[in-house]
Amino acid sequence: MSINTLLAIFSGLIGLCIGSFLNVVALRGLSGESIVYPPSKCPKCGKKLNWYTNIPVISYLFLGGKCQFCREKISLQYPIVEASNAILYILAFLSFGLSLKTLLLWVVLSLFVLICITDFKERVVMDIHTYILIVTGFLYNLLHLGEIPLLDSVLGIAAGYLILEIMAHIGTLTVKTRAFGEGDTLIAMGIGALLGWKMLILTVFLSVIIQAVFAIPALFIKYIKNKQLKSAYSLIVIVVSIFALKFLNPQSSSYLLYLTGICTMLLCCLFIILKDLKNKSQEQDFSYMPFGPALVFAALLIIFFQEQIFKLLSLVS
Ligand SMILES: [Zn+2]
Repeated sequence: MSINTLLAIFSGLIGLCIGSFLNVVALRGLSGESIVYPPSKCPKCGKKLNWYTNIPVISYLFLGGKCQFCREKISLQYPIVEASNAILYILAFLSFGLSLKTLLLWVVLSLFVLICITDFKERVVMDIHTYILIVTGFLYNLLHLGEIPLLDSVLGIAAGYLILEIMAHIGTLTVKTRAFGEGDTLIAMGIGALLGWKMLILTVFLSVIIQAVFAIPALFIKYIKNKQLKSAYSLIVIVVSIFALKFLNPQSSSYLLYLTGICTMLLCCLFIILKDLKNKSQEQDFSYMPFGPALVFAALLIIFFQEQIFKLLSLVS
């Protein structure tokens, strides 16, 4: 086995252990408990977990996803978080080798994982996570680990604030609901600090597409179920117009015009979704999806697959 394979496996193991820790940090952060005390226990029977029932992913598989004492089901969240963190650590190592850059990216990736757990679980983005993300992103460029000048990082923080707040306020003006929470603005500021203002704009663009891809089908099914046919039709119109824009894209029309068209369409989608949400409790609504994970996912695409994304975008346009 080559030394690189060994190091990749080692990165994965570190990722698993940190991932296990992230589960604890996220859940206790949400409930306001201390991170170090008390030790992990089953939420139902309260029995403490042994070291051998606390091994990331493996214990879960071995115990069949149940507590060894009371057979209470253990949430799938635990192994999913552990495995995701491990995969991200390996990806970072394979992309950037054994370096300070990889180490700092590991911190960023784990913060991304934390943000996704709390946002998916409770629709909360904790300030402490996003503040550390902004500082780490800035430090990353202060140490010249990225490809951008430090000024771009500072402008990235500012752009993150401006873009997300403007988008959120368009929401306030049109449907009297913020398009998304303040936490999302802080996430965008952190991504801007890490990737700079140019890549941040691309990240926001990608995240709106990601959000739409997941939200539109879910929303459509719900409209049909609730017999809200008007809303269902308007959704079809929007999707068809997006494709029309793509296929009617003549050589003469500028790229910017085309992008603006698509962004407008996607924003329309977002507002229809928001309008629909206004009357309903968000907790029960499966078509509601937090925006934070979409931002995080878009940032991951840019960190690891920048070239492929550029190729894809040049194909589409
Ligand atoms: Zn138990």
